[in-house]
Amino acid sequence: MFRTTAVPATDPMRQDSAEATSKQPSASPAFQDLKFDDAKEAFKAKSTGQLLQSLAVFKACTIKPLVNNADTLLAASRRLAPSLVDHAVKHTFFRHFCGGECVESIQPTLQYLERHGIRPILNYAAEDDVKEEGEGDSCPLAAAERKLDRNLDIFMRSIRDSDNVRNRAFVAIKVTPLGPPKLLEKMSEVLTATGDPLDRGDASARLRDVLLPHLDPQEVTSLDALIRRLDTLCDAVVAKGNSRILMDAEHTYMQPAIDALAIRAQQRCNRSEPVVINTYQCYLKDAAARIERDMARAAEEGWVFGAKTVRGAYMVVERARAQALGYDSPIQDTLQATHANYDRCVERILGSVAHGDAELMVASHNQASVENASRCMHRLGLDPSSRGVYFGQLLGMADHLSFTLGRAGYRIHKIVPYGPVHETLQYLIRRAQENSDVLGGCGKERNMIRTELLRRLRQDNALARALWRPRDSSRAAAAAA
Ligand SMILES: Cc1cc2nc3c(=O)[nH]c(=O)nc-3n(C[C@H](O)[C@H](O)[C@H](O)COP(=O)(O)OP(=O)(O)OC[C@H]3O[C@@H](n4cnc5c(N)ncnc54)[C@H](O)[C@@H]3O)c2cc1C
Repeated sequence: MFRTTAVPATDPMRQDSAEATSKQPSASPAFQDLKFDDAKEAFKAKSTGQLLQSLAVFKACTIKPLVNNADTLLAASRRLAPSLVDHAVKHTFFRHFCGGECVESIQPTLQYLERHGIRPILNYAAEDDVKEEGEGDSCPLAAAERKLDRNLDIFMRSIRDSDNVRNRAFVAIKVTPLGPPKLLEKMSEVLTATGDPLDRGDASARLRDVLLPHLDPQEVTSLDALIRRLDTLCDAVVAKGNSRILMDAEHTYMQPAIDALAIRAQQRCNRSEPVVINTYQCYLKDAAARIERDMARAAEEGWVFGAKTVRGAYMVVERARAQALGYDSPIQDTLQATHANYDRCVERILGSVAHGDAELMVASHNQASVENASRCMHRLGLDPSSRGVYFGQLLGMADHLSFTLGRAGYRIHKIVPYGPVHETLQYLIRRAQENSDVLGGCGKERNMIRTELLRRLRQDNALARALWRPRDSSRAAAAAA
């Protein structure tokens, strides 16, 4: 069904990729050798101070009133004593979930990760306030477009800063900071109503053909600006070489537009390697079908398919919206169904990676899914260090998985957010909320940290007892015996 994309013999990266994904039985560690549950092994790269800090942060995430009202609490307290609040955040949540305030200050974190086989995905996580600038402006549209241009600068900065990263650089981007959400929503409605979003063929031309009759002149201007911003980013990443853009998945009512823009970018950039990688949320009932559709399209049109699989981060909003508007929820009915769908999608794409037709980032903190991916790689003869498969996790989360994968030679990447403390608050609030969910997040990691801290305490006590034992006590004990 899938046509194998031609691999030009002169392209070293594709040769490398083809070699790495050859179907020889793997001699590297199988998933059985990955000791995710061994707390001592998993945290051996962490000092006791680091573990105590992680435990304190995860514990704070479970205080629901604090987490649910973090936005209001932070805004109010920052009005009274901004530097005091920033200082407190900096030494707790920020230190745990962010790499530093600028690309220079994150270097120790990057070096620390690299020593343990973990590569960074730089993410300039500053999010400033749109309203402030738009308010009182005589031309809100121009103000909004200026804001979107500033966001482009932020993404471009991540690309520039990733020069400091050795090996392959990944840059994570979201489309909503680059184009008006209302426009993305309208584009999605039109694309959904026309059936297959872009049919086949040149997505640039099709996008305009399908959309223009439905857009007013201001929206056409905004669409052109959005496409220009995306092209600027993609061209910068192509020019860097050896880099990838990870396009985030967002709400379903904007996703058809994001998918269409991703397909367009992939047609432009993924000729010999998957420079643009789109994201598939496997909590969606239609995720597997969309993966099949895009893989088939890549094969027909001769570009390389690149995917990042996630479970999805907008479940509550999606379900509430479906209920309010009276349509079927797009989310899997049960968590078990999401887990099964996630693993199925990963297995499907890995099959394609094994043929040299695709690249995959398994972006998950779920141990069973990581083990499943590793088991499937082994079955397909994909070496852990194969260029075609990457694991993705966030800084400060699932360290017991990341460090174990890194030591076993898997290509593990951590998103390393950075930016001035007060501008990363929104990012930090999202992390705190994610970790307050008992079903996912850090529950298991928290227990493992506790186990390891207790083990170290006992060991230190034993050591202390041995060190403080009177010199002749062993002789006295022997005599008594
Ligand atoms: C590197 C990286 C990149 C990411 N990029 C994106 C992105 O682009 N877009 C995006 O949306 N998210 C993204 N995420 C977040 C991701 O979607 C998840 O929110 C997060 O990683 C938790 O899922 P998990 O796979 O780690 O599994 P777990 O920790 O096992 O998470 C399980 C969670 O799934 C949720 N869930 C899903 N389906 C159901 C269901 N049917 N019923 C009940 N609960 C359900 C629950 O909240 C539960 O807590 C990214 C995550 C990482 C690590």
